[in-house]
Amino acid sequence: MKTTAPKRVVIKLGTGVLTSGIGQLNTGRIADLAADVAGLRATGAEVIVVSSGAVGLGMGRLGLRKKPAAVSRKQACAAIGQSLLMQTWQRGFDPHGLTAAQVLLTHEDLRGRDRHLGVKACLEELIAYGTIPVINENDTVSAAEIKFGDNDTLSAMVASLVGAQYLLILSTAPGLIDMKGTGRIVPVVEKITPEIEAMAGGTTDVTATGGMISKISAAKIALRAGCGVFIAGGAEPDIIARLLGGTGPGTFFVPSGLPLDARKRWLAYFQRPHGGIQVNACAVPVLRDQGRSLLAIGITGVTGHFSEGEIVNILGPDGEVLARGMAAFDSREVREIAGLSSEELKPRYPGRKRLEVVHRDNLVLL
Ligand code: GLU
Repeated sequence: MKTTAPKRVVIKLGTGVLTSGIGQLNTGRIADLAADVAGLRATGAEVIVVSSGAVGLGMGRLGLRKKPAAVSRKQACAAIGQSLLMQTWQRGFDPHGLTAAQVLLTHEDLRGRDRHLGVKACLEELIAYGTIPVINENDTVSAAEIKFGDNDTLSAMVASLVGAQYLLILSTAPGLIDMKGTGRIVPVVEKITPEIEAMAGGTTDVTATGGMISKISAAKIALRAGCGVFIAGGAEPDIIARLLGGTGPGTFFVPSGLPLDARKRWLAYFQRPHGGIQVNACAVPVLRDQGRSLLAIGITGVTGHFSEGEIVNILGPDGEVLARGMAAFDSREVREIAGLSSEELKPRYPGRKRLEVVHRDNLVLL
């Protein structure tokens, strides 16, 4: 598929592409990729790299054959590998006169609205200075609750944050393979259906983290930002130019529909929901087709604990996640008012103007 000339591109490189064997840097590959990035820059595109490899390189430096189970050991590996990774990227960019800018992020850095906007502003500055931001998760300080989990998700969040037109997820996976059908790579995905999701499996690689499942859920985040997503093999020669030129091997996920605005993207995809609000069957079309707010009358139950202003999942009668939104009441109140009409609510909250449990401005259908 022929793509339009890109303005802003995020390129995610998996550990398996940047290393050979366990934790040995593939400096030749990084030099080639740096040259490809320079080539893309020369077309006027702005490029952000999301580079994995820190943990794998640390393992290699320490002579470990298996990823350590203890979080503190993985964190230590990342600290050792990250500097090796950055040195190699900078050496790759040197012949092209480009400067790499290391950016290490935790999920926490993109969750709160102020920090989210702060990271965006910094990335914009780095781009304006003509550097290539090289982003990785800050694995050394990441614990479960502040982790992105994998760099596929991180790269999709970055693509959404900076409003990229294309996200290239380059790893050892050559694309989405239709295992049950043709056995070949699916070239174009117009819509991520349950059948498409069923084609994805987890990873079995010793240094890898993601796998096709995490790549597809990452693709969903980027697509809602209007960003086209390629999943392709990072070891293919000239892969970046070929993909963007529309001749590359791999799978292209087409963004469809209007992109969500930046605040709604932040609300839907950068938060960890604190709980859930279950709705009845009548509320489903009201939310889904009519784009209305969630009212107490449609609510049948609440899970978890959340405060007013926190993000919750909105679940259909069968427990499927329909939407995500910012609750205007805390979980205790929602439990109390579930099923009540607006008329019944008014005397409970005299003087309160807004009685929607989740206002439509703060609600995103998933
Ligand atoms: N942040 C990890 C690393 O640099 C990799 C995570 C991933 O590839 O998804 O080793």
